[in-house]
Amino acid sequence: MFDKDKTCYYNFQKYKVNDVSTIEEFCNKYYKPDRFKTRGQEYMDCVIKSDYKDMENYGYVIISHHDSITGEVVAFYGNEIAQNDEYKYTLLSTGESSKKYGKCEVCGEHVSEVFLQSETKHYKFEHDGQIYEGWTHNKCNSYFGHKECLLSKRR
Ligand SMILES: [Zn+2]
Repeated sequence: MFDKDKTCYYNFQKYKVNDVSTIEEFCNKYYKPDRFKTRGQEYMDCVIKSDYKDMENYGYVIISHHDSITGEVVAFYGNEIAQNDEYKYTLLSTGESSKKYGKCEVCGEHVSEVFLQSETKHYKFEHDGQIYEGWTHNKCNSYFGHKECLLSKRR
């Protein structure tokens, strides 16, 4: 029931960087060159694809201290965080069109700049007298598509 991944969302916030706006930029800037750039396009595409999956599932991506150019963990949380009592949203641009990331998952149309929105839900429960609180992606919806379409999906 208690999953430690759910609390990492906050644990990594102290490593958050704000000077990049896409996952590609984040990887280009913060990976050691020999852990990313010099490994070839296919490898880079693979890393970026898996980072999008993480962004979709967890709302952030990290580079470990072994792989980062700073020697410390670095984390990227997208560029817009909106929050109400129950839900939190991260929005980020892929910097690419539907040609690379597919049609809008909300309206099904072509998108010239595809965005990803990740939704997380606040949870709080008591177990054996201890209170567990944090953010989960359980039963949450994350979408790729037009920025306007994603904004319209917020609850
Ligand atoms: Zn759309």
